[in-house]
Order: sequence, then C-alpha cells, then structure tokens
Amino acid sequence: MTSRRWLSLASLAPLSLVALSVTSGCAVDATTPADGEEGETQPVQDGREAESAHVGVDCSNRHTDTGYKSGSAFTITVVEADGKPVEEKTASMYARMQKAAAADGVLIRVVSGFRTMAEQKYLYNCYLTGSCNGGNLAAKPGYSNHQSGHALDLNTSSGGVYSWLTKHAHEYGFERTVPSEIWHWEYWGAEVSGSCTATSAPPPSSGCWSSTLGKQVVQNTCVQSKSDSKWYQCVDGGKWEDRWTVAAACVSVHPL
Ligand SMILES: [Zn+2]
Repeated sequence: MTSRRWLSLASLAPLSLVALSVTSGCAVDATTPADGEEGETQPVQDGREAESAHVGVDCSNRHTDTGYKSGSAFTITVVEADGKPVEEKTASMYARMQKAAAADGVLIRVVSGFRTMAEQKYLYNCYLTGSCNGGNLAAKPGYSNHQSGHALDLNTSSGGVYSWLTKHAHEYGFERTVPSEIWHWEYWGAEVSGSCTATSAPPPSSGCWSSTLGKQVVQNTCVQSKSDSKWYQCVDGGKWEDRWTVAAACVSVHPL
C-alpha cells in the first residue's frame, strides 16, 4: 500500500516537471516590470499570503517610517495598497483611481510602492557591483521617489492597464516620470485631507489575484510563488490552495 503510494507520487513528479519545462518558454513574466532607472524590485512575502494580498487600501497596518526627499530624511506615513507599503496620500488617490479603472473593467494593481533606505541601498549596491538585481540602474539612496512616497510601480503589462492610465491617471494626479519605465507612476497631485480610508476593489467574477504574476488569473491557474517557490492553484472563491492538494488539472502553469 505504502510503496504503491510512493510509486504514484514518484511518477507524478517527473510528469509535472516536463509540463513545466515545456511551458516555461511562453510563461515569461511580462507583467513584472523589467528593472531600470529606478531599480525595481519585488518585496518578499510568504507564499499563499503574497498570492492573495488584500486588494485595495488596507489601513490596519498604518504606521510611520523614514522617507527621503532629495537626500533628507522625513517622517512618512505608510499604509498598504494591494498588500504593498504605500504612502498614505498616494494610497488614497490610488484607491480612487483603482476603483474608477475597475468600473471600466481594468484591474490596476500596485507592484511596488514605498521603499525603505535599506531596500534602496541594496538596489544601488547591486547597480554598483553588478552582483544582484541584474546590476540594473538604481537611483542613489535617498533620491528615489519610491523613498519619498510619490512613486508606484503598476502592473502596466496587464490587459488595458497602460492604455487606461495614459487616458485617466492625470485625473487622479498621477503621471509617468521615467521615460524608460512605463510601469513607474508618481502622484504629485493636491494633498488629500483626512486619514486612511480602507477600500476594496470590486471582486472579480472569478479567479484569483497573483502577486507573483502581477495580474488576475482564472480559476485553476497554477503559479509557483516567488515568495516561497511553492506551487499554488487558484480555486473557487478566489483562494489559493497548495497545488498538490487540488484534484482539478491546471489550466495553465507559471513556473518561476
Ligand atoms: Zn518605480
């Protein structure tokens, strides 16, 4: 009995590996911003939680941190938008923009928001040494608008997002500021009064939000999470389950 079970597991594993290697060629992560001038990076979270991050603005983690503007430190208030740390006022306007886009059927998500000095130093060091982050160009620590709280990297490779932003982002005070980075948008609008207001994007009719892919995926999509390298499958109710506990076949697979 036991050996039979092991046998079937052993025969499953190589099969799935074959399937993955076959598809890896076309599963290029086009939705993740390529690295560039701002030294884009992905925050590390834990597997399933990362995949199903709260969509919209979450005020429950509202806290202060140290932001930087032109090299000078200041106290910045940070909340969460789509599970990512984002400066409060930027998040507030982002939430309005996200809702308006959703009403047009366009699902905007934050890929990267506020960045700490430690994160920017890491990226800048990668740029200087070429030993990490692909050695990509990164703003000098203290001078990135991800540190001043104004910059958001958005999922511009997802369907309709970039085109929607070019038409409407300015209505919410957002503008593109780095010519080579279409995902990089900055909020320089009027100050928003009041404290954090929680929002949630209208729930999509089906499917799950994948933080790894930076887009909404249909039910039974299988994704290897960049956070813990484990496999998850999108099931009914917009939830992620351990892929190996789900009987249904994957409609598509997305290895790292
Ligand atoms: Zn950026």
